Amino acid sequence: MNAIAALQLVARHWDDLHALRTSRPHDAWPPASLQAYLRTVEEYDPADRSAPVRLHVVDTIRIVEAVLVALADQLAARVQSSAVGPAPADWAARGWTPADRDRRNALSAADSTDPARWPFVGTRTGRQAAVWLAARVRGDAGPFRPLTGGELDEVARVASGAAERVEHALGIRRRSVGTGRACSCGDELLLEGGDGRPPSLVCRACARSLTLAEPAAA
Ligand SMILES: [Zn+2]
Repeated sequence: MNAIAALQLVARHWDDLHALRTSRPHDAWPPASLQAYLRTVEEYDPADRSAPVRLHVVDTIRIVEAVLVALADQLAARVQSSAVGPAPADWAARGWTPADRDRRNALSAADSTDPARWPFVGTRTGRQAAVWLAARVRGDAGPFRPLTGGELDEVARVASGAAERVEHALGIRRRSVGTGRACSCGDELLLEGGDGRPPSLVCRACARSLTLAEPAAA
């Protein structure tokens, strides 16, 4: 996934993350009913249980937001030009006409409130940072110099980590957990799922695969 796709994924799913933070426990993966079905509840990663899943979402929002906002702050300090100032107090002594002064003040007001600018103060969300960073990677117009190769690499690295965390928290990346049950070949069967498609039991050693009909949520 390239930097722009990763940042767009974060921005697109920002509301979903906030919604998931307060979702009901049975939205966790693997669902409790499936865990009971497999009778291997204690084998699962505790991070996949209901309450910790939601704490994990809160952590994801906090970490992704902190990382993306910090990166936008650093990058904006380097690539964003200072806003054009208003007309100087001694505009008349400098030979400016009132029309010159008004033009300069209008330009200054427009530039300082240009929505393309990264705000160094006020509310800055993870989504805002993702959208702003994606625009810099694309080279969208605005009061910015182009990013250097090193800066593009840095954004790509951070964006990829952020997207991975968001995908994991939302369960849109297929994951696998050990079941503690042995396949007929002797290797451990893994339970794969969590991405919205039917879960399956798979063995990596002999490639045996069994799609499960997920029991209805209790
Ligand atoms: Zn096997």
